[in-house]
Amino acid sequence: MTRQIKIGNVSIGGGAPVRVESMLKVALSQKEKCAEQCERLLRQGCELARVALPSADLAEPLAWLNRHTSLPLMADIHFDPGIAIAAMRAGCASIRINPGNMPLQSLTEMIREAKERRVVIRVGANGGSLSARQLTEAEGDRAAALFLAVKEQAELLLEQDFHDIILSAKSSSVGDTVRANTFIARAYPGLPLHIGVTEAGPGDGGIVKSAVGIASLLEQGIGDTLRVSLTDEPEREVRVGYEILKALGLRTHGVDLISCPTCGRRRADVRKLVSLIEPMLSGLPDGTTVAVMGCEVNGPKEARGAHLGIAGTPVGAVLFKEGVVLGEYAFEELPKILPVFFGGGTHFGE
Ligand code: SF4
Repeated sequence: MTRQIKIGNVSIGGGAPVRVESMLKVALSQKEKCAEQCERLLRQGCELARVALPSADLAEPLAWLNRHTSLPLMADIHFDPGIAIAAMRAGCASIRINPGNMPLQSLTEMIREAKERRVVIRVGANGGSLSARQLTEAEGDRAAALFLAVKEQAELLLEQDFHDIILSAKSSSVGDTVRANTFIARAYPGLPLHIGVTEAGPGDGGIVKSAVGIASLLEQGIGDTLRVSLTDEPEREVRVGYEILKALGLRTHGVDLISCPTCGRRRADVRKLVSLIEPMLSGLPDGTTVAVMGCEVNGPKEARGAHLGIAGTPVGAVLFKEGVVLGEYAFEELPKILPVFFGGGTHFGE
């Protein structure tokens, strides 16, 4: 098991639930907008957000943001360890440094500051910013180069008796990401790992790449915290992150919606039913299963097996609660009945 570390009140590794992260997509110069994005991320269940700090001049809005959000922030630092020190002084409980662009010999003062302030350091290598030397030493094998980059900085931190470390190695290639993380987990079994496929892209492709890479690692027991890197709103990254963890049975978060894809047998318009009920699900307890099924083949069993079930009929739906049939209702009645059903009611005034 990995060592457990804490960033603010969020524990990572050591048996804690796999955490879901994202990254702010607004510049710190627009601090109010950053705070609004933090609030939206918190509402989705985001547990840690990275924020780019390209220059120490932006330490003041970073300090302001740290005071105005309860979302733990990890300052994302490249090139200059002086900026990392500014981030710590601005109140960040964690920083990410990039071993591809931060020279080893310049890190001593930064490590001392992190120790004093009990700041967590993520050593986060990225396939897009490996140095020419790292690539040459790995003989062009990008996964091996990612591992080498992480190893160099991890060793330096450990030599200086610094242990509040998270490691990560990301590539836009799923295969390289999985191999690099497998090397790291083997070499450093006690250090927590942040996982994700970087620059996964937009839409379906980005989600699939992320899910395949992240799930391959989690299935091997590798990964303590994750980010889905999409060309999209950060809130969607969080939602997809939770969906991956839910699919693997690693976390419960919101509702687990089971709905059939429909086929030529369908006796109900499942897409219409799902779009009708989706806005009603947000108030249900975490882990509630809701099944929406299109016909009598799998419908009644799935609907009975869920906490709340809807089995379509040609004219409406049969509603189930904890396996018990509550009644059969016409489609026109459903907009009135379903809010009561999802609100916990079982009597619909009929
Ligand atoms: S539940 Fe019925 S409608 Fe839905 S996919 Fe299965 S057979 Fe088709």
